[in-house]
Amino acid sequence: MKKPFFHLVILSIMTLTFFACESDSDKPVKKEIKKEVHGCQAPEGEFEYLVEQFADLKILRYQVPGFEDLTLKEKELVYYLSQAALCGRDINFDQNYKHNLCIRRTLEAIMQGYQGDRETEEFGKFYLYLKRVWFSNGIHHHYSSDKFLPEFSKEYFAELIKNSKDVEFPLADGETIDDLIAKLTPIMFDPKIDAKRVCQDAGKDIIKNSACNFYEGVTQKEVEKYYAAVKGKSDPKLSIGLNSKLVKENGIVVEKTYKLGGMYSKAIEKIIYWLEKAITVAENDHQKKALQKLVEFYKTGDLKAFNEFNVLWVTDLESKVDYVCCFTEVYGDPMGMKATWEALINFRNEEATKRTKIISANAQYFEDNSPIDDKYKKKEVKGVSAKVITAAQLGGDCYPATPIGINLPNANWIRAEHGSKSVTIDNITYSYDQVGAKSGTLEEFVLDEKTRENARKFGPLAGNLHTDLHECLGHGSGQLMPGVTGESLKNYHSAVEESRADLFALYFLYDQKMVDLKLIESLDVARAEYDAYLRGGLLLQLKRVEPGKNIEQAHMRCRAIISNWVLEKGQKDSIINKVVTDGKTYIVINDYDKLRGLFGDLLKEVQRITSEGDYKAAQKLVEGYGVKVDPTLHKEVIERYDKLNIAPYSGFLNPVYTPVYEGKKIVDIKVEYPFCFKEQNLGYSRDYSFLPTYN
Ligand code: ZN
Repeated sequence: MKKPFFHLVILSIMTLTFFACESDSDKPVKKEIKKEVHGCQAPEGEFEYLVEQFADLKILRYQVPGFEDLTLKEKELVYYLSQAALCGRDINFDQNYKHNLCIRRTLEAIMQGYQGDRETEEFGKFYLYLKRVWFSNGIHHHYSSDKFLPEFSKEYFAELIKNSKDVEFPLADGETIDDLIAKLTPIMFDPKIDAKRVCQDAGKDIIKNSACNFYEGVTQKEVEKYYAAVKGKSDPKLSIGLNSKLVKENGIVVEKTYKLGGMYSKAIEKIIYWLEKAITVAENDHQKKALQKLVEFYKTGDLKAFNEFNVLWVTDLESKVDYVCCFTEVYGDPMGMKATWEALINFRNEEATKRTKIISANAQYFEDNSPIDDKYKKKEVKGVSAKVITAAQLGGDCYPATPIGINLPNANWIRAEHGSKSVTIDNITYSYDQVGAKSGTLEEFVLDEKTRENARKFGPLAGNLHTDLHECLGHGSGQLMPGVTGESLKNYHSAVEESRADLFALYFLYDQKMVDLKLIESLDVARAEYDAYLRGGLLLQLKRVEPGKNIEQAHMRCRAIISNWVLEKGQKDSIINKVVTDGKTYIVINDYDKLRGLFGDLLKEVQRITSEGDYKAAQKLVEGYGVKVDPTLHKEVIERYDKLNIAPYSGFLNPVYTPVYEGKKIVDIKVEYPFCFKEQNLGYSRDYSFLPTYN
């Protein structure tokens, strides 16, 4: 499971999980197309985190603090794994849509070979489209999964191809340039063809209506029938269908497995090569065995090996360097079975991990002192093993848009028997904070300078601690009464559960214990979080809701429930005020102590609802506070946001690692931070592209 970053509450909550089916409510931020389309100028002076912005996207950079302090062996390990991370890029493009590699290669050939005028608006539009394809690893929006269309004309597309010289177009045997144009034009320009990467509309054939490349020539019924039969005969612990494409060949449904010698073999061969290098510098035997198992999985495609790998991986808590480098998340498959390839190479941030260790070690204190009814408290509570990591390389589905936290593995039986690893990616969050601080959001949505100053000073730490408390303790706290299950609250379960974890975090962030544990220097950190939370829940997050629509997403509902509830209760005694000045609405907290009391009251009630499985009360709470939007305030927020011109989605450039040799021996690995999205992607296509155009 992934936690994506929620750009609107940059200084606040970072505990989102997104669902691939979620509709995209953000309108693209229109930006003027720059004239100098080759523009990749090195930023001067201090490290610039924001590199460029186009369509609804921002390109950011992240630094890798602590890399220099790794031992040579650890650096080598990061280096080898980071190479493996880049070798799966083509797999991700192909999984997203079968024509993606053909389109990307065609566009890149134009970018490198076009002989006509590159200073025109039309060429700018072409460049914009190519950048969007790079960003989304294909022609469907990375978040909404809707196909985005070129803003240039079909005729111009043909002209671009015909006037590109000394470059290779991805032509199949016997295919001409005209054939290529005829093939790609409807695919790229017709909004009706393969309009959605992942379709989850009830009543439709979700396989036929999804453009993703996990199935071909089969209907939803056939897929269901096929896997029902396979599952009936196999070990229920296996993640059936995870690493294959299901196709119909000569009237028979067959699985094409991703493995060495199977589908995606050419890329997998390279991944194995680098993983085997990594094995030679593994930190310990446990890590070595895990990597060997992963290689075995790539070589055989055997799902039993995949399980064994995951168990080895999740129980390795000692190694400093860690990685995700495989077929992992299933959001990209409408059936939720087939995993998209992704990579995240990282190492533990020892200093920040102390934070989560302290929190976990004091889990019992928090449980005992929670404002909930004693009968709902756990007698013995275990903190989740969580760590804070530094990302060193992003790949596949994690590049360039990356999550800020990951909780793996996904198999429920492994989570139950062996636990899971929950990680927060500190350097990525830091980048977001740096960019967020300059975005103008605070200036626009906070009334007074003192509150702004407090947000600038403590906002990032407050946000991280909120995430830690939410993840390490919040979800794990409390207990259900006999006979009550997680399903008792049905469709309201997620919103209520997220509220419970958020309230736990909000309540304890403002606890003297946090100061005593030296996690915060003063309660001002908690005050920064309280300001940010209500600002997010009552104002900023409305930007993500389409005008006239309700709030749907569970984490957004959770923030709305908590914020609206405490506002209603707190307004009476002026604990919180909604202030309108010059037509602009602000949230002003007058009494933080009492606000904390309100969070505690609501936590008590939400825990009761959860522990008792009180569906009626859950419904009343969610529908009453978490769904509806005030249309006037909604409009106001969108207008204020539009003026700030902040692209809602972000992606990151990767650092570049270069080995330093003495003779044949590596003596150091150097890290550099490039600044050009175009150069990075053209470079990846040149150096890390191993698959045929069609697989
Ligand atoms: Zn949560």
